[in-house]
Amino acid sequence: MKHETKPVSPVAALAALRPSACPGLVRVVAARDGGLCRIRLPGGVLSAARARALADAASAHASGVLELTNRANVQIRGVRVGEEAALSAALIGAGLGPTGIDAASPIERACAADELRNVMLSPLAGVDPNALCNTTVLAAALIDMMQREARFTALSPKFALQLDGGERMAMLEHPHDVWLAALPHGTTVRFAVGLAGCPTGQPIGTLAAEDIGASMRALLHAFLDLAGADTTRMRDVLAAHSLDALLQRARDHADFALIRDDAAQHAWRREASPVDLRLGAHALHADGSGYVGAQPALGRIDAYTLRALAALAQDSGDATLRVTPWQGLLLPNVPARAMPAALERLRALGLIVSRADPFARLIACTGSSRCAKSRADTKADAQRLAALLPPDAEAHLSGCERSCAAAHCAPFTLLASEPDHYDLYQRDDATTGFGRLVARNLTIEAAAHALAQRPRSPQDV
Ligand code: SF4
Repeated sequence: MKHETKPVSPVAALAALRPSACPGLVRVVAARDGGLCRIRLPGGVLSAARARALADAASAHASGVLELTNRANVQIRGVRVGEEAALSAALIGAGLGPTGIDAASPIERACAADELRNVMLSPLAGVDPNALCNTTVLAAALIDMMQREARFTALSPKFALQLDGGERMAMLEHPHDVWLAALPHGTTVRFAVGLAGCPTGQPIGTLAAEDIGASMRALLHAFLDLAGADTTRMRDVLAAHSLDALLQRARDHADFALIRDDAAQHAWRREASPVDLRLGAHALHADGSGYVGAQPALGRIDAYTLRALAALAQDSGDATLRVTPWQGLLLPNVPARAMPAALERLRALGLIVSRADPFARLIACTGSSRCAKSRADTKADAQRLAALLPPDAEAHLSGCERSCAAAHCAPFTLLASEPDHYDLYQRDDATTGFGRLVARNLTIEAAAHALAQRPRSPQDV
């Protein structure tokens, strides 16, 4: 008797091929408040039309609550059971899925390629005239290369690259598996290359811009050659193998053009961007045009606000929004005369446009109201802390050690120990993770007091 085999859906095939707890466009992950769907935005760019489609999809199939993430993506919370496929289809139909590769259907294309789009750029990529290069073109070529190579579907959904074009504002404290940062080289530009770190750290060598595609392909193959079944990140490969072994593998795959140029590495300096550039109006050109930056409190917006932001981008800028890795957004290409009114509309929508606002200096993960792992209601506690936060203090509240809200080490981290109580950590150059533990089991009131008493530098602790 002949047995009929039930066809496997592309989403089930994705779960089998690449098991992960990381949400994606078709991988809607269960959370306490419903499904969680993450939409990757290459370069953080979101057109006004797609922003409206996102808002509509979040209202139609989910709770209407959206979050901006620390990788400059957007996620939809509270997806209703049974509506996951309709949500994914609506988002893909709006052009928010991967493009450019052949697949039998848009959903199959999204399953194959969505998670290979973790390339972080500056929110000013392609619009800052002071940048050394326009990284948007390079990023598109790298994403295309990764999506076309069948073997790279084995990369973890967390595996991430960064391209720094030397823009005046960039997230440089967020570690990536591979980073490339532009540096002047005579009349041309080369790229410093680093592994398992940030562009403020030390590169391993430099690459010419024209060699990046082939060399990155070779490096990714070398990574997969050396990564064991459970190894997903570059730091783990480098813990088990020497850098020389990795680079030799890369050379086995192609002309790996990295130059281990001691002088360039010695001269390498990339400082973190001034925090004031994230919010408010900033000119980029001689005529005063530039961008306007804003941040929703604790990274969360509703569908109504997203629609209003889309309208604002259309009226005041170039009809695009850019999500930033600080869980904020900016409107690029705003004429000088339109900036005051744009700022006023952002304020009226409840967005933060100045560092003086305590919510500009607070980040918090989802917390116990929506995440079962959380030991405290971090979002609600952050609201209480905002009223007590000392001027200039900056803090991160995390419900557990996973640190979903901050991939970088914040100046101060409050790690939940139990409901309403936190351990306080201070960033320390000598440590990784949250930094140095400075106090245990503080209430929010005691944490605010401790922050007010904080030493001026980590060395004073
Ligand atoms: S940091 Fe922990 S508690 Fe907070 S959202 Fe992530 S997993 Fe949940």
